[in-house]
Amino acid sequence: MQVREQASPLAALKKYYGYSSFRPGQEIMVQTIISGRDALGIMPTGAGKSICYQIPALLLPGITLVVSPLISLMMDQVKALNAAGIHAAYINSSLTEAQITKALQYAAQGRYKIIYVAPERLESREFICFAQQAEISMVTVDEAHCISQWGQDFRPGYLKIVQFIRNLAVRPIVSAFTATATEEVKNDILCVLGLVDPKVLVTGFDRKNLYFGVETAKKDEYVRHYVKRHADESGIIYCATRKNVDKLCQKLEAEGIAATRYHAGLADWERRENQEDFIYDRKPVMVATNAFGMGIDKSNVRYVLHYNMPQSMENYYQEAGRAGRDGEPAECILLYSAQDVMINRYLLEQKQFEEGMLPEDMEAVRRRDAARLRAMTNYCTSTGCLRAYILRYFGEETEDTCGNCSACQSEYEECDRTEEAKQVLACVREARGRYGVNVIAGTLAGARRGKLQEYGCMEYQSYGALKHLGEAEIKKMIAWLVAEGDLRQTEDRYGLLRVELKAQGILSGEKPVILRVPKKQAQPVAAADAAPERRQKSASVDLNSRGFALFDALRALRMEIARRESVPPYVVFSDKTLVGMCTLVPFTREEMLEVSGVGENKFEKYGRQFLDAIREFTGGQREKLYYGDIVENEEPVRTARRREKKPFAISREQAAAFPYAEKYRAPEIAEALYALVDHETYKKTSGAEILRWIEAEGLAGEKYENGRRTKYLTAEGERKGILLETRISQKGTEYLDLYYNEQAQRMIVEHFLGRED
Ligand code: ADP
Ligand code: ZN
Repeated sequence: MQVREQASPLAALKKYYGYSSFRPGQEIMVQTIISGRDALGIMPTGAGKSICYQIPALLLPGITLVVSPLISLMMDQVKALNAAGIHAAYINSSLTEAQITKALQYAAQGRYKIIYVAPERLESREFICFAQQAEISMVTVDEAHCISQWGQDFRPGYLKIVQFIRNLAVRPIVSAFTATATEEVKNDILCVLGLVDPKVLVTGFDRKNLYFGVETAKKDEYVRHYVKRHADESGIIYCATRKNVDKLCQKLEAEGIAATRYHAGLADWERRENQEDFIYDRKPVMVATNAFGMGIDKSNVRYVLHYNMPQSMENYYQEAGRAGRDGEPAECILLYSAQDVMINRYLLEQKQFEEGMLPEDMEAVRRRDAARLRAMTNYCTSTGCLRAYILRYFGEETEDTCGNCSACQSEYEECDRTEEAKQVLACVREARGRYGVNVIAGTLAGARRGKLQEYGCMEYQSYGALKHLGEAEIKKMIAWLVAEGDLRQTEDRYGLLRVELKAQGILSGEKPVILRVPKKQAQPVAAADAAPERRQKSASVDLNSRGFALFDALRALRMEIARRESVPPYVVFSDKTLVGMCTLVPFTREEMLEVSGVGENKFEKYGRQFLDAIREFTGGQREKLYYGDIVENEEPVRTARRREKKPFAISREQAAAFPYAEKYRAPEIAEALYALVDHETYKKTSGAEILRWIEAEGLAGEKYENGRRTKYLTAEGERKGILLETRISQKGTEYLDLYYNEQAQRMIVEHFLGRED
């Protein structure tokens, strides 16, 4: 008797969710599933996985069961679904036996299209009995990586899913979703869940709206300034330990900041309360350990700061990815200190293994952990594009620069710091393993501190030897030497430094130390204050002051409704949707339905109230409440706000000013070119872009050989003035690189002239 309510996925998307187009990957997943095929979707947090199974659930004839690991996650999803007019329920331990029986009765009557269950429920007799008699069209496994014993989120209950499915009268479609992309997890899901000829979709891991940064500033100061500068915004600050969480939260509160905290050491009630304070925007700042976040899909988190470095890139990207789920600009900043590496190494060494685990398995896990930690550390100390680093880590090919990370936004130059490194090593030797970073850096910088005098450091030969660098820069060098393994730091809280045998390479002059250092003189430590505004303040910046006032009025209305219905504000409408209202200023139902995020059901529920508020505010007069023009209809707010830069190009006059030289590498040419133009108007060009063009011209390029990328040169390229020469990397390995003589430089400069419109 069930009738398909909506024939087309797109119509359902518009009707229930108020969106007019699918995001990348969503449509193909929906189509696959409704055609009856199993599917595995690996998509980053915020990509919109829910819609991939919720729309098929609506279109398929029977019930969809969604296995989900966390109660809070289920509750939020079910609230959001019901607000959108989709009948859904959850069955988990937060309900009484009587409530469960009732819910199952309703379910058997076909009242729900979607039912969320905890994995443990799949073993309950009552539930199995219900499932065997119901028409189950699909079983969806959310957070499917919980099935992998390799991951940190392993849930034994997930292993029961397969047996449950086997016992059903008819095998349903099985779909699975996760944000964890590593091969081992993917294979685990495919094998253990027993997916049949599944469509596997991995969508781009890039989150373009996120800014990535690594800072080495003083942590407390940085956080304080940062949070104050973003006072109206919601953010999460992750710390490595409960103690750090408590301390930092207290500090922020003492500054009058509405912060709350979350970690496993708190009582259940307190965790629940604090989490709600955060979700309902009563306290915009959450200080937490990594215990916090799974199942939180608050969409307006504008920043995620990491007070300590996490243990792996997987963890980092998952935690950082909680920022900006609404697609609006957001920032992810990691505060790095070399000490974090030591703490993590120590924590990993202390790691407890399950009883009965084989020694060789333990060893494998240890090795894997160590490799992950190294990759994480390299992210923090790398001077290349952070986004490129992340994407390559997750196996995606990508451009060399993104323009929206701390590396791309600071200008670096390569500096030979071999002599300075020798001085650092000499000083550490003189200290004979008794001091840590602060004393060593102070000594080298020639600081006048009572402690240094007391320790006798002012008598050292190396005292003041690196005065010209300053302490901050010296600390970075120490961090680099630790990461390279030339220095070792003890793993306790003192972090005492010692010279390793490996440093011999530097001392003998065999290993040159070439560091990329910021071009401008290092910024003062409290950079959070001085740093240019990278991202406009909140989701509503392009609004003018009247627009802001309307936004505030609508936000107040949303809060009122949320309180009344006890749902989080974003379940009513997201910030982005409110901004959409302020830009379009709808007066009628039709106009309101044009706003992204307003579906028919939401309109029935809340539309009138918002229309009234808008009418009252504007007095029924149409006005323009934002600056600039709306470029596209689709996403008016975003496009209006970000000015698109033009592809890189130069004028003839600028070309004449190019500093030709005997020999350049492509990145150097790119940098010299970029220095000629107006950075507000033109995108950056890169060595990679130049190389792509050279390759298209058949002059030279990059190829894979013996599993390594290597450069090649054609006869034609040689004729045009390109050279292929051997270089030695910092790690001492030889590789081939391309150089361009003056003739070739002229050719490249000409090429960019050609592109001018
Ligand atoms: P995930 O589960 O992948 O982390 P969600 O399913 O929670 O992501 O979706 C993240 C956000 O993106 C939600 O606010 C959701 O409403 C929004 N969203 C999903 N699909 C679309 C779409 N096609 N158009 C606009 N917004 C979307
Ligand atoms: Zn970048």
